[in-house]
Amino acid sequence: MSYKNFETQAVRIAESASDQREHSSPIYLSSSFVFDSAEQARQMFADEIPGNIYSRYANPNTSDLIAKVCAAEGTEAGLTTASGMAAMFGSMASLLSQGDHILASRSLFGSTHQLLTRVFPKWGISHTYGDIKDIDRWEELIQPTTKMIFIETPSNPGLEIIDLEYIAALANAHNLLLVVDNCFATPYLQQPAKWGAHLVSHSATKFIDGQGRVLGGLILGQKKYVDEVQFFMRHTGPSLSPFNAWVLAKSMETLAVRMDRHCSNALKIAEYFQESRDIEFVKYPFLPSHPQYHLAKKQMKQGGGIITLTLKGGLERAKRFIDQLQMITVTANLGDSRSIVTHPASTTHSKLTEEERERVGILNGLVRLSVGLEHVDDIIADIERALEKSR
Ligand SMILES: *Cc1c(COP(=O)(O)O)cnc(C)c1O
Repeated sequence: MSYKNFETQAVRIAESASDQREHSSPIYLSSSFVFDSAEQARQMFADEIPGNIYSRYANPNTSDLIAKVCAAEGTEAGLTTASGMAAMFGSMASLLSQGDHILASRSLFGSTHQLLTRVFPKWGISHTYGDIKDIDRWEELIQPTTKMIFIETPSNPGLEIIDLEYIAALANAHNLLLVVDNCFATPYLQQPAKWGAHLVSHSATKFIDGQGRVLGGLILGQKKYVDEVQFFMRHTGPSLSPFNAWVLAKSMETLAVRMDRHCSNALKIAEYFQESRDIEFVKYPFLPSHPQYHLAKKQMKQGGGIITLTLKGGLERAKRFIDQLQMITVTANLGDSRSIVTHPASTTHSKLTEEERERVGILNGLVRLSVGLEHVDDIIADIERALEKSR
């Protein structure tokens, strides 16, 4: 059975119930699955018939999660990984060989940046960064050995937006694979495959889980590419635990309602910051003051749950502000039901040099706010008090 709307698909698509007729999916904590006969085992190993073999390959809970996220992203196939970084690494390592080159947006998650600058060079895979403001000059950065374009939109933490339609056309014109880290938007707000991305990767740890409980990752896309990634992942082993897959599949059922609230809260808070005399600059994709507001409106359903801001008074003020918050938590995660504040320059992006950070707009005074599901008035009250006390 297929359903027309995102919300219904997310709730109703599920692996069929077992002979116990349960309504909610059970957790299949089983490393392996039993064969009826030696011949059936042979056929399953040979991919002649479908069926679970071993949980490093597939498990009913990971299949359930994949079915839900594929429907949400509008993709043909997918696989799960132990964390978001396993998804980022796997989507690149499985499809690239020694001598290949990646064109990537400079604004990337800290660990993805480490992969490109510290890990892949060991295997002879190089990269070039493109700046988002010069996106019309990315074509000049393509080399004869370029195989892949890897981007994040909106980027963490800079909230830079890349035109998915434009970049997919560029990739196709040069026969390159386009991989998009869709972690910040979630499939509810943005579906890169619909604009032409060949693979979409996720940290499911963030908004997909939505309650700060488990790590997980996903890679979705056309079957021919997912199959290649799957081969690499099966044999290198960064598989998702059935328990985590179960948590994440349950989370998918509430993604739409949660994101609606994350986004409406975030927009109200961004508007509040815009009026505040304590703020030098506030960035939120659906604020008209965002440099790529029209692009965000074109490819995102809403602005997402993350806001960045620079306080008047720079780094010292930012630290005082963070220390004065009473409700909002200081922690390294994002996309939680609880609002979170982070100082990227000294935490998630501390491994970058100051120059690298400046080039992607991670100034020392920048604060990232992941807006949670508390009542918006209580979030604003906490911020207001901390702003006052940090003056
Ligand atoms: C957190 C994050 C990752 C890494 O995900 P983990 O689940 O922590 O491994 C990758 N990309 C982005 C944009 C992220 O925010």
